[in-house]
Amino acid sequence: MEQPEGPLPVEVAIENLRRTLSADRRMADDAGNLLDLLAQVAGVPARTTQVRAEGWRPSTTEEAWDELYSKLYDPGGAMAATCCAALPVLAALACTDAAPVEAMIIAGGIVDTFSREELAAYSADNAVLRDAAERTLTTRLTTHHALCTIQALAAFEGLEPWGWALTFLASEDGMTTCPSCGADLWATIPPDGSVSLSPDTEITPADLSTLDPADARVYQLVNQYGGRERRRLVAPLLNLFSTVVCPGCATSYRISDALRAARSQ
Ligand SMILES: [Zn+2]
Repeated sequence: MEQPEGPLPVEVAIENLRRTLSADRRMADDAGNLLDLLAQVAGVPARTTQVRAEGWRPSTTEEAWDELYSKLYDPGGAMAATCCAALPVLAALACTDAAPVEAMIIAGGIVDTFSREELAAYSADNAVLRDAAERTLTTRLTTHHALCTIQALAAFEGLEPWGWALTFLASEDGMTTCPSCGADLWATIPPDGSVSLSPDTEITPADLSTLDPADARVYQLVNQYGGRERRRLVAPLLNLFSTVVCPGCATSYRISDALRAARSQ
């Protein structure tokens, strides 16, 4: 049957997922649990309650989102095979009036984790999620949610490594590894937005006029939508785009290239 244009109603997307999951026995054990959680965050009646009847149930929507995070945002988790199949439900949720930011953040984590081939069937959902994430960024978000949403948007737009590495800015420290010798470099981002590297090393901040397209797009998004603290975020962002000299072997490398390389290993 042909799908209508535009995002599906959430109930229809959940019902489609129920059919997909019940046709795949590998997913049988935890599938009812996932469907119940999605129904709970969507505020629609669950149809699989017998699966979780004896287990712990989240009592609030927030707890249900937390459970979904642990199930879907964990590429090595038990539900890994189900993650992509949940994308249409997350896309439908992102298009509701409530447009829960969690739906986009979890979907961004899924899209960032799986290969183009695995995601090929979900390109329409990816486009819906991309638009929803950009709409959400025009609303009032906490700085943390704004950064997570920009990171999700970077995943939907394929802006590696920023589909996973952007919340580096929010965590206030992080590590990069020299692609030549493997020496680690710790970066600390204090509240004033400066960056200090340990061991101490030379850093050349990126030149705004020569950013590559992925970096330029992320810079624009953080500058435009970075929430109340965007001014504090922009300076370390340029440092994240910068070139450093490895204190171990003196090789110059771009931090973003090192992050990309670390992910593909
Ligand atoms: Zn090195």
